[in-house]
Amino acid sequence: MMLIYHRLLTAYGPQGWWPGDSRFEMIAGAILTQAAAWRNVEHALANLRREAISDWHILHRTDSEILAQIIRPSGYYNVKARKLKAFASHVCEQYGGDLDAMFASDTVNLRRELLSIYGIGPETADDILVYAAGKPSFVIDAYTIRIMERIGITPEGGSDYAGWQALFHASVVPDVAVYNEFHALLDHHHKAACTRNDPQCNGCCLNEICATGLRRKHEGQLTPNPSA
Ligand code: SF4
Repeated sequence: MMLIYHRLLTAYGPQGWWPGDSRFEMIAGAILTQAAAWRNVEHALANLRREAISDWHILHRTDSEILAQIIRPSGYYNVKARKLKAFASHVCEQYGGDLDAMFASDTVNLRRELLSIYGIGPETADDILVYAAGKPSFVIDAYTIRIMERIGITPEGGSDYAGWQALFHASVVPDVAVYNEFHALLDHHHKAACTRNDPQCNGCCLNEICATGLRRKHEGQLTPNPSA
């Protein structure tokens, strides 16, 4: 697994995640990006900025219907407004709006707490843990699973979210900086090469260690590397 990480890092360089100007935007973005393209989330975040909704206290006081219209570009805006309000309600009523106080728990307890909030599922909880709280809890998403399955890696303990996460936790150094970078690199690799319908195995930095890339090479579908 670390070989994959190092090849991706060499090919693409550090990704500088998470995109967003603050922890507020990071967490709001993690909720808004559910079933939405990031470019649409950026429009919703820009709208929040324009309306000066820049912390959880302000969002907590914002009317739900008005908030839904502000975040409309992200899609599913009524339900996402409820989710944002639920997070705001939790952090404001339990911690006086202080994220540092909320994030003072250990990773396991904080993850359990996040999952208890309406609208926070495993992927969103892990986004918040890694990118806002700085805690090591590997983010699993559809891109990660698709790339790993093409490479020929599957978890032994079940291919649900927990199974994939356990595989990463067992095979990646438990360093939040590496978890942060690896997830971002996998996301970038999906966009740059290992796309959903047309993986670009020619020139892919993983094609020498990927079952799909090796099969295509064996079948003569890959152009020989001139430097090889
Ligand atoms: S070799 Fe092809 S299938 Fe394998 S990771 Fe690269 S682009 Fe994806």
